[in-house]
Amino acid sequence: MTQTLAVANQKGGVGKTTTCVNLAAALAGNGRRVLLVDMDPQGNATVGAGLDRSAVEATNYELLMGEASAEAVRCTGLSGGFDLLPANGDLTAAEVALTGTGDGREKRLAEALEPIRAGYDHILIDCPPALNVLTVNAFVAADQVLIPIQCEYYALEGLSALLNTIERIRQTVNPALRIEGLVRTMFDGRNNLSNQVGAQLLEHFPGQVYRTQIPRNVRLAEAPSHGLAVLQYDRSSRGAVAYMALASELLNRQQANAATAGGVA
Ligand code: ATP
Ligand code: MG
Repeated sequence: MTQTLAVANQKGGVGKTTTCVNLAAALAGNGRRVLLVDMDPQGNATVGAGLDRSAVEATNYELLMGEASAEAVRCTGLSGGFDLLPANGDLTAAEVALTGTGDGREKRLAEALEPIRAGYDHILIDCPPALNVLTVNAFVAADQVLIPIQCEYYALEGLSALLNTIERIRQTVNPALRIEGLVRTMFDGRNNLSNQVGAQLLEHFPGQVYRTQIPRNVRLAEAPSHGLAVLQYDRSSRGAVAYMALASELLNRQQANAATAGGVA
């Protein structure tokens, strides 16, 4: 079964895109079929995947507006080993258009993904730093939410708004939606605050915080300027090792859940 994971946190700059691109590459490196969906008008995941966001022919704008199919928008043959539904500034217009429309506006992404969904083991959706209609579309298309948390002061601020939004979607359009996990990003073990926030998270979300911590690592910040995932840019860096560990932990969790549910992985 396809795992569709929305990577979300309305706080800006917490590592959503970095997690999407590098987790996508790490899962692909494990032989999994992966699709990355860029739902942010900033188009950072598109650039991080190695594309020129101003040169892509069709984007998720056309996809959400029903002007192009997922197959037509999809980019393949990328260096990271995953496929991509790209975005750029045009997506802002889709956000505006959908905010004004009535019923079904939050289901556009879910419906558009349907024809290609079964071709993937994992679909990762990179959300913008807002709880807007684009993020809501991601929550309706997804079955799970992965929340990156930067271990700094104010890290937990805004988390309740995010959890409330997820709960609202669960009670209305997508009862299957659940929180897959929380990932600590830009972690610095020498920093007391990082450790304190990490401990707080473990206390508030027992069993949901990933053991793997993503360290602050300059290679992770450099890789997007080369249009590469860190795995391709510097495989032995601490950042690459951490994202490979995160992918393994995610796959183990998925297997464990399938076993508990009596299903097949
Ligand atoms: P936005 O909310 O704007 O979409 P985001 O949550 O997607 O941001 P990223 O773009 O992934 O966050 O990261 C923000 C910045 O921090 C980027 O410049 C990125 O390269 C850098 N960065 C992310 N994770 C790390 C890390 N573990 N170590 C060092 N730099 C990092
Ligand atoms: Mg981002």
